[in-house]
Amino acid sequence: NLQGTWELSNGHKMPYLGLGVWKAEDGEEVIHAVKWALEAGYRHIDTAKAYENEEGVGKGIKESGIPREELFLTSKLWNSDQGYESTLEAFDKTLKRLDTDYLDLYLIHWPVEGKYKDTWRALEKLYKDGKIKAIGVSNFLEHQLRDLMQDAEINPMVDQLEFHPWLVQKDLQDFCATHNIQYEAWSPLMQGKAFKNETLKQLGEKYGKSPAHIVLRWDLQNGVVTIPKSTSKDHIISNAEIFDFELSEEDMQTINALDKHERIGPDPDNFD
Ligand code: NAD
Repeated sequence: NLQGTWELSNGHKMPYLGLGVWKAEDGEEVIHAVKWALEAGYRHIDTAKAYENEEGVGKGIKESGIPREELFLTSKLWNSDQGYESTLEAFDKTLKRLDTDYLDLYLIHWPVEGKYKDTWRALEKLYKDGKIKAIGVSNFLEHQLRDLMQDAEINPMVDQLEFHPWLVQKDLQDFCATHNIQYEAWSPLMQGKAFKNETLKQLGEKYGKSPAHIVLRWDLQNGVVTIPKSTSKDHIISNAEIFDFELSEEDMQTINALDKHERIGPDPDNFD
């Protein structure tokens, strides 16, 4: 069912499926996408300061009429805001734009070297103050996680990473599992490339599903939270239809074998 959730290390529940809204325009486009998703049963929205659509996300949530406490809302701190005081300020502005008084999850968007530890201390403070239900990171590889945790009082509860059949990073998944860090997939549909992949298309035919369903179901069976993006009503509704079938172990392995260690997005060791 669409309420399927994972429990984070601190007990806060994170819905397995969320709507990603990167590149959804602030205003009507993102407002509609959020409302359609919530109508379809999604209870998790993934935005970021950098997406410049937090206001629209907030309006979509309000207009949906769904009580705030039933939703899981994630935003991310942008690179130029890293540092202790600047993080506290950026967080306040994010809350105001989203028109809410807490976040379910706040992530450090990228591991800005020399700054992410001070940033993390600010997240720890906001967490202890009750303004964020869970804190985490995004685009942190194993060495950055290890470095962060060396000085952290609270370990990250989530790491949101590029994850799809071409970029599996099994070692990183295992590392996160060992440390109780929930793995979350960005660009799960390979920014649309999943629809052109022959293996995913064939598996889709076999199960009477689309390539999107196959890859999102593969995420689910891997224990990975996933946030496909769409602003089309039909696609938003369709992408959630992944709770009524199961991939066989053999087909899971077939998808795992597509791994090419190939990124679509920036490398966390070398980004702007
Ligand atoms: P995605 O892999 O979710 O693919 C989105 C593309 O697929 C869009 O072009 C959409 O129109 C198309 N699509 C979606 N459903 C479809 C369907 N059923 N049929 C046909 N086409 C369909 O790409 P994404 O937006 O890069 O990633 C998802 C989310 O992950 C983002 O919106 C964002 O919230 C998050 N993200 C985070 C980071 C990060 O650094 N933390 C980076 C990238 C994305």
